[in-house]
Amino acid sequence: MITPRQHRDVAPRARKVRILATLGPASSTPEMIERLFKAGADAFRINMSHGAQAEKVELIKSIRALEKSLGRPTTILADLQGPKLRVGKFSDGAARLETGQKFILDRDPSPGSGKRVCLPHKEIFEALEVGARLLLDDGKLVLRVERMSETKITTHVEVGGMLSDNKGLNVPDVVVPMAALTEKDLSDLSFALEQGVDWIALSFVQRPEDLADARRLIGGKAALLAKIEKPAALARLEEIIELADAVMVARGDLGVELPPEAVPPAQKRIVETARRFGRPVVVATQMLESMIKAPTPTRAEVSDVATAIYDGADAVMLSAESAAGDWPIESVAMMDRIAINVESDPAYAARVHFTETRPDPTTADALSEAAFDIVRTVSAKCIICFTESGSTARRIARERPLVPILVLTPKLATARRLGLLWGVHAVSTRDVSSFEEMVAKSKRMALRHGIAGGGDRVIMMAGVPFGTPGSTNVLHVVRLTGQELKGR
Ligand code: PGA
Ligand code: MN
Repeated sequence: MITPRQHRDVAPRARKVRILATLGPASSTPEMIERLFKAGADAFRINMSHGAQAEKVELIKSIRALEKSLGRPTTILADLQGPKLRVGKFSDGAARLETGQKFILDRDPSPGSGKRVCLPHKEIFEALEVGARLLLDDGKLVLRVERMSETKITTHVEVGGMLSDNKGLNVPDVVVPMAALTEKDLSDLSFALEQGVDWIALSFVQRPEDLADARRLIGGKAALLAKIEKPAALARLEEIIELADAVMVARGDLGVELPPEAVPPAQKRIVETARRFGRPVVVATQMLESMIKAPTPTRAEVSDVATAIYDGADAVMLSAESAAGDWPIESVAMMDRIAINVESDPAYAARVHFTETRPDPTTADALSEAAFDIVRTVSAKCIICFTESGSTARRIARERPLVPILVLTPKLATARRLGLLWGVHAVSTRDVSSFEEMVAKSKRMALRHGIAGGGDRVIMMAGVPFGTPGSTNVLHVVRLTGQELKGR
């Protein structure tokens, strides 16, 4: 356990939105990971699509070592590749497909040409229909199905170009009858769980059942994030969000499967729905894309990050910018600065509260809403939440109160998982066993973390009797004298 004493000097971030940074070749040493954290990364994504499991062992070790030395819970998300479809190989490594020609995808594993190539996914041959589109290489080439059999798909090339070995294939028009977890994913999943990661991200989710399958395999060892990157997932968004612990607006693949101009409305809808359900939502991909090569972003990228923050996303993500670019630290620092500027805009509060989050008829929601009101009425400095599972913290964060949410939990796993949540500063600490202890500890923790000082009011939420999960029923307001740390 990370002891509370180690937390003494660690103040919460000066912003509510969280930064999720992908690790990769540009950021895999312990020094780089620490610099990313110091620049503002709250959580780290390990992309299982690239590199060997052995490399990930080192990354995870480094992150946990950093956690220990900083005395701050850190969050690790393992992102499974999912059923990413790929074409086979060509005899010359690539072939040119001319617009207007015919092109065949078949089950013959021999190297392809300008006329045909192998498609090593049997399921596609069963699912496709005449008229469906096949998008190749992130949508650069477009084929339309003219004729189908169990072994051969004849297509018309609508947009031609060069197609090289193993390029990706997207089929946006049909639900592909493939499990959300491939053989590789199953192996990566058990590896990630053994390594004790906090979140598992599931790629190319199509149906609510995909989440149920993953949930069963994870068995409570990690939380589950659903990446929304298929039109099929958008069609059943509410059901999917309800079954997930968090969602990602995965704009990379979503923008291949949908026309790019359809992505912004989808992003707004996903963020809003996730917020209504109280599920953390991450906005991802190309946020500061030009910073892969340049030390400063474009104005449009800055505006894109800002918009996600104004919309109240829980987290913004860096992909290649932090994993494989020339400026990983600068990218995180840039996001941090954008966030601080947006959140100090006087218009921010109104914008972030534009999304209505009406309470469910539960005690936890009634108290969370009340806490939100009390913060404004008496200018309380923070909300302190005692929780085992983190569920109360999620309901409070859903209200988007404009003060820090200090979460005190006896479970390190809970504190780590909360690292993706808007405005939450989680601390793993010994549980309290009485009301007096709760009050005293809250006061000490608020002072120690620099969240409140003498004369300030703080709000606390907990469940009585203490140590019974899921029973949040107490809301208490106290004023600090500032003497609470004296003599300790
Ligand atoms: P990826 O997912 O980076 O794993 O492809 C994110 C996205 O598609 O936007
Ligand atoms: Mn993707």
